[in-house]
Amino acid sequence: MNFEDFSISTNVKKAIKDMGFEAPSPIQEKVIPEIAEGHDVIGQAQTGTGKTAAFGIPLVDKVTNDKHVQAIILTPTRELAIQVSGELQKLSQHMNVRTLPVYGGQSIGHQIKALKRGVDIVVGTPGRVLDHLRRGTLKLQNVHTVIMDEADEMLDMGFIEDIESILKQVNRDRQTLLFSATMPFPIRKLSNKYMQKPKHISISKGEVTAPSINQVYYKVLEKNKLDSLCRIIDSEQVELGIVFCRTKKGVAELTEALQARGYMADGLHGDLTQTQRDQVMKKFRDTTVEFLIATDVAARGIDVQNVSHVINYDIPQDPESYVHRIGRTGRAGKKGMALTLVTPREMKHLRSIESEIGMQIPTQTIPTIEEVV
Ligand code: ADP
Ligand code: MG
Repeated sequence: MNFEDFSISTNVKKAIKDMGFEAPSPIQEKVIPEIAEGHDVIGQAQTGTGKTAAFGIPLVDKVTNDKHVQAIILTPTRELAIQVSGELQKLSQHMNVRTLPVYGGQSIGHQIKALKRGVDIVVGTPGRVLDHLRRGTLKLQNVHTVIMDEADEMLDMGFIEDIESILKQVNRDRQTLLFSATMPFPIRKLSNKYMQKPKHISISKGEVTAPSINQVYYKVLEKNKLDSLCRIIDSEQVELGIVFCRTKKGVAELTEALQARGYMADGLHGDLTQTQRDQVMKKFRDTTVEFLIATDVAARGIDVQNVSHVINYDIPQDPESYVHRIGRTGRAGKKGMALTLVTPREMKHLRSIESEIGMQIPTQTIPTIEEVV
């Protein structure tokens, strides 16, 4: 199948070409026609398979430049709001469509001014969107499309009430789209309540993690974790790596320890200011920083080119978090490595991850000093 086969405007086709997309990914192939026909859609596909463009292409094709908000996209994190908004801007580069990200931590005055000038698509985190609705600075009466990206994560983060308040303010005859890599029960409940005869489109065929990700775990002792991590990264060909820790404090400590050992590492977590978070992400994207040390704030949706390794320094407690963390690598057909450090006490978490993903993760021994140098 080819992008030419879709009935979308030449301006959008031109943008797709400029972005270097040659053929639609499987989820795009199935979802784009359904959305274009006006159906509500629940889309599920593995990480890195192009879900943003799957809803973005038909969306930018549908909006008109009329200075009223016509579509609202909800995302769980600020970084994801910025990224999704950027992808929509690229898709609409040959059109006169304005997309604005709105998220907490950024000056609300700046956002209010931009909204006043007229915006067609708003991409935001639920809390900040609701804030604008309460102030009357965002009006939803012309909204024909609502999209929930990474819906399960938004529910995990406790956004359910915010999301419901937002959905209640949008016309009932809207089109509602919901995307996620995982589809737990609360999502099904939400979709029953707020979607109309949704089409379920699932690409994963029981495979939860993308086959492009090579997964391995290492048995480590708690007291040797830092040394083990260093040996592993020294023996791997890391282009860019994301190292996940459980807590903000853990991120801060590990970042400092790695910097002290000469690694180009920087930390990302929820206690940083938005400006700091943006700076860290920028440095990571332009590869000034080689290792991004992060809490799960970076686990969802974030798409950075050439992330060759995801390392779980602390194994995630929740199997779904594992799927999303490792999904930051092996994207858009590229290969990736997912390495997990497991202490003896944490073996039970590894087992529940294995049962979630339906496969055994092979173990490897920590490289010896001789293997490293
Ligand atoms: P997901 O939301 O499924 O995790 P993204 O939408 O973030 O994935 O897309 C992952 C990467 O693949 C992005 O860099 C995106 O620009 C790229 N991409 C999307 N669709 C295509 C395509 N048809 N061909 C090539 N690259 C694509
Ligand atoms: Mg996504």
